[in-house]
Amino acid sequence: MSFATLGLSPALIRAVREQGYQAPTAIQAAAIPVILRGLDVLGLAQTGSGKTAAFALPLLQNLLLQRGAGVRQTRALVLVPTRELAAQIGEALQVLAQDLPVPIKVVTVYGGVSINPQMMALRGNADIVVATPGRLLDLLDHNALHLSAVKTLVLDEADRLLDMGFADELQEVLALCPQARQNLFFSATFAPAVQALAEGLLNNPERITI
Ligand code: AMP
Repeated sequence: MSFATLGLSPALIRAVREQGYQAPTAIQAAAIPVILRGLDVLGLAQTGSGKTAAFALPLLQNLLLQRGAGVRQTRALVLVPTRELAAQIGEALQVLAQDLPVPIKVVTVYGGVSINPQMMALRGNADIVVATPGRLLDLLDHNALHLSAVKTLVLDEADRLLDMGFADELQEVLALCPQARQNLFFSATFAPAVQALAEGLLNNPERITI
């Protein structure tokens, strides 16, 4: 199994090679072709499985293919429970995006730090926003971004999003995204509350369990 056989384009294969990844992990092999096809995913996977690249690579490729000559808009939103995870995913996306033929701007926002630099970073928009829910809502209140062009929504560590009490914030954010979009839902556990959230969100998802 190689990254090329999963359907990734030469630009993304180069990015993977620069990371030193030799072969896809199990979740990458399962998720990448499905995400490239635009389908919803319900992934049960732990941290350490390589799940960040499993969604980041096809997400970047889909953005490259979508991209026309138009203005930059937030077309992908990645919601995560903690600032550490936001920083980690934002960094991974940025590294994979750095040498693509078309620039993809990634902005990471989270609470507990000053909002102003984040508002500045969002000027001129970002293609991908990685966010914790509370800070995202603050930024939306400030009109620092809007979500009307979001085509792909990623929920990472959905179980922890719920454990940390973000259910209401999540629903508020979801209400601001277009209905027609791809949803990528990852969780390490699948308690009833997580299942209910997934059912409300996902459209005929491909289930991937690692
Ligand atoms: P994650 O589960 O996304 O937090 O990734 C765990 C670690 O595995 C990270 O340090 C990644 O850089 C690394 N990793 C991801 N995919 C691969 C791969 N295909 N081959 C080797 N390492 C990888």
